Formats: sequence, C-alpha cells, structure tokens
Amino acid sequence: SIPLSFFAGIGGASRSGVLVKGSNYMETLAQTSCVVFDKTGTLTQGVFAVSSIYPEGMSEDQLLEYAALAESYSSHPISRSLQKAYGKGIDKNRIADVEEISGNGVKAAIDGKEVSVGNDKLMKKLGVSYKELNEVGTVVYVAVDQIFAGSILISDQPKPTAAAAIKALNKAGIRKTVMLTGDRRNVAEHVAKELGISEYYAELLPADKVSGVEKLLAGQRSREKLAFVGDGINDAPVLSRADIGIAMGAMGSDAAIEAADIVLMDDDPMKIAKAIKIARKCIRIVY
Ligand code: ADP
Ligand code: MG
Repeated sequence: SIPLSFFAGIGGASRSGVLVKGSNYMETLAQTSCVVFDKTGTLTQGVFAVSSIYPEGMSEDQLLEYAALAESYSSHPISRSLQKAYGKGIDKNRIADVEEISGNGVKAAIDGKEVSVGNDKLMKKLGVSYKELNEVGTVVYVAVDQIFAGSILISDQPKPTAAAAIKALNKAGIRKTVMLTGDRRNVAEHVAKELGISEYYAELLPADKVSGVEKLLAGQRSREKLAFVGDGINDAPVLSRADIGIAMGAMGSDAAIEAADIVLMDDDPMKIAKAIKIARKCIRIVY
C-alpha cells in the first residue's frame, strides 16, 4: 500500500505547478544528487531572435526567404525565429520534399532548388564548402543546390530564473549540475558561465545526449539518483533513460511530456529545487 503522506506530497507539489506522475517518483526525487539540463527551451527561453544576416551572392531578404520557406514545416525554435524575421505569409506551393534531420537542420525543395538549412555538421554532411562564422551565437548555414548561400546568426536568452534555479539546487546539496546541448561550444560556454554551471557538453546529437546521461549515471554513487530536465521531441529518449525525467509542460513537446515522470506546468526551472525539497520532506514523514 502507498502511504498517505505520498499523496499529500504529490498534492503539495501540484499546487506549486509540479505534476508528479506517481508516488514512486517522490522517493527517487528525494535521492537526487545530480541534475542534468538540456539547454534550449529548458535553461534558455527557446525563443531565438535573428541578430545578423550574411548572404553570399544574393540579398539578405532572399537568403532569409530561402531559410524561412525551407523551415516552414519545422516546429523547432530555430524555425520559429526565421518565420518571425521573414514576417510574410508562406506560399506552400513553392515547397516540396521537406526533410528534417534531427540535431542538424532541414532540407526542402524551394522553387525546384534544393535548399539546406542547418548547422556546420549539415554543411559537412552535404559536402558544401561554407564560410565558418565565429561570432558568439547559434549559426544557421544555408546552401542552395549544394552551393553556400550564406549564414544567419541567431541568439536565445537564459530564462529569468535559470541562474537562481542552479543556485537553489547547489544550496539544497545537489552535488552536480550539468548542461547538455546540440548547440555550438561557444554558445554552451557562454550560457554555462552566465548560469554558474560547471560541467557542460556541446555539439551533441540526440543519441549523444543518451550516452552522456549513461556516462553520468555510471559515475553516480550507490543510492544516488540522476534527474534529466528537457523540453524537446529529441529529449524523449534521455528523459526515459534518466532515473527521473522532468519535462517542461507549457512550451515542451507532447513527446517529452509523455516520456517524463514529472512535468513542470509553468516551465520554471526554479521549481526543481522546490520539488526536491517537498519530496525529501514527504519521505522523512513516511520513514
Ligand atoms: P538543443 O540541444 O539546444 O535542444 P537540438 O538538438 O534541437 O538543440 O538541435 C541541435 C542543433 O541542430 C541546433 O543548435 C542547430 O544547429 C541544429 N538544428 C536542429 N534543428 C534545426 C532546424 N530545424 N533548423 C536549423 N538548425 C537546426
Ligand atoms: Mg532541445
């Protein structure tokens, strides 16, 4: 039988906007010593803004149009920023053969031309000789018919409570906070420093995030638990692999919410330390 105090704990958590899917997770949460975060949409707002456009052999408007059209079927935060900067309606008749390459970008036929939009890995994969952009920020490279067409620099800001959330976890005695991201190393370093996260891994594909969590799990002491916090479709396998998966409920994908054990209704990372404290209190009452 499940002690009543677990229900009291789950009720208390839900009043704070933390949905716990089962009483067993209260115990796991209470024993958590390591919290691993995805970056985009979890520690950062997941809302990118276009900061600069660097076309090659075409106008800025034309480069942005190719990128926005090719991305128009993607729900990735990068796509949303390009749609917003483009600001015009999309004529779907101009778009065919859309393909999203997870952790890399998208490919589509625009006006019969093959347009690829994504990171340096995608350009390398396609054998496009691109001009590397070294400014701090997320870079979206564009190729048209395998020829480099330019790059678009975009950036995302940390959530207002992200730094305080890391501090609260440290104060609650969490031994280790880690950030995993598919984004570039210079962006990861910048965000990690700003938030006070000592350990981070960048340029990861979705599968690398799973193996990253597995390595961290192997380094845990016995009886200590590891939590992963994420928001994206790509995060579902990692959410399942961690001892406890925590998903962002408001902006997060359905797949992430489904795969998670705990859902933060308001996407506020500050609620993680709060949930751990509620769980510890409720475990002390039970045993
Ligand atoms: P994160 O780990 O930050 O949540 P993702 O795994 O979603 O990031 O993506 C990793 C990287 O892959 C992005 O930083 C970007 O360079 C590239 N990427 C993924 N999806 C897209 C897309 N739709 N358009 C352009 N680039 C993309
Ligand atoms: Mg993500």
